[in-house]
Amino acid sequence: MIYLDHAAATPVSDKVFKAMKPYFTTDFYNPSAAYLPAKKVSADYEAAKATIAHAIGAKASDLVITAGATEANNLAFTATKARILYLETEHDSVRRVAEARGGKPIRVLPNGLVDLKDLRERITDETELISIALVNNELGTIQPLSEVSRIIREVKLDRMKRGIRKQLLLHSDASQALTLLDINVARLGVDLLTLNAAKVYGPKGVGALYVSHDARLHPLTVGGGQENGLRSGTENVPGVIGFAKAVELAKDHLNGNRKKYAAWRKILLSELKDYELINKKHALDSFVVICYDGIDAERLVFLLEECGVYVATGAACAASKGVRSHVLAAIGLSESQIAGSLRLTLGETNTMEQVREAAEMINDVVKKEKKFRAKRSMAFI
Ligand code: PLP
Repeated sequence: MIYLDHAAATPVSDKVFKAMKPYFTTDFYNPSAAYLPAKKVSADYEAAKATIAHAIGAKASDLVITAGATEANNLAFTATKARILYLETEHDSVRRVAEARGGKPIRVLPNGLVDLKDLRERITDETELISIALVNNELGTIQPLSEVSRIIREVKLDRMKRGIRKQLLLHSDASQALTLLDINVARLGVDLLTLNAAKVYGPKGVGALYVSHDARLHPLTVGGGQENGLRSGTENVPGVIGFAKAVELAKDHLNGNRKKYAAWRKILLSELKDYELINKKHALDSFVVICYDGIDAERLVFLLEECGVYVATGAACAASKGVRSHVLAAIGLSESQIAGSLRLTLGETNTMEQVREAAEMINDVVKKEKKFRAKRSMAFI
């Protein structure tokens, strides 16, 4: 099996699993309990939060642990009831909540980057929150967040001069970013940042929201008052321990992984045949999005699965609902280009040999599919 869908899910790494295990069995205590073993669990939980926070240049007290990135994104949007702007290529967990709160989309350029001119024009005196993912989950595009935050600072300064005291926060969904980017919240200039353990070889259903001192959030659920009252419910201790270990490992291997994926991407691009590269620039090297115009990529996914190669046509959630990619539409691809696009995402389950083998199998399957289509159209003549 050659798995090329690491943007959809990553396996929990052995070291992560090993770190988590005691907290399911021997160290199972509720961190809020009064006895000593529970206090130790509570201390371990806080230390794990600190590890995650330090990895993005923050403190443990700045993080709210959630049950995944979807919840973290939803929580971020409780920062305001006023005007929201969001990038049109956002993941549904941002797009849907932004739309539900009357948010307006910001356009992207054909290369997938935020259109900064459009952003400037759309910010009004009413705007309180802007949401732009650090890395797009379909294209791997890395957004220039420090440029966005510079624009936000200028707007804030101008507002101050005119006596307008409205907040203007920047939220970023960094779900796909932790494996290959060195994230620092101050450098990025974000007020709210979503993290996702499931995309970095940690457990599914664990995420975090970084919250700066300027942001005032409202809990989505109420109860025991955990996570500073922002996320009630008994802490997911094994999940957070695993998340911290995964973050630590990602940090340790950042440079090596960047080089590895850059080399593998080059191999794919040189060995694959007759394709159009969609994410040419500004993307993580682990994302290779290619298009076979006129071919049905859904069929390619199915035929490749039969050969033991797992790939995707776009976001897993969109693909399972059979809806066309709003991301590929936003960068201006035609209907037939969208229908013919494949997303290959490299990761730790792969080897260089697998990458070469996958390229060969994709070439074969595409060739067969082209022949099949040619025969079928001849039959209609
Ligand atoms: N945001 C992005 C960019 C994602 O890629 C995903 C998952 O695919 C999510 C949010 C949602 O994450 P989860 O399903 O773990 O809540």
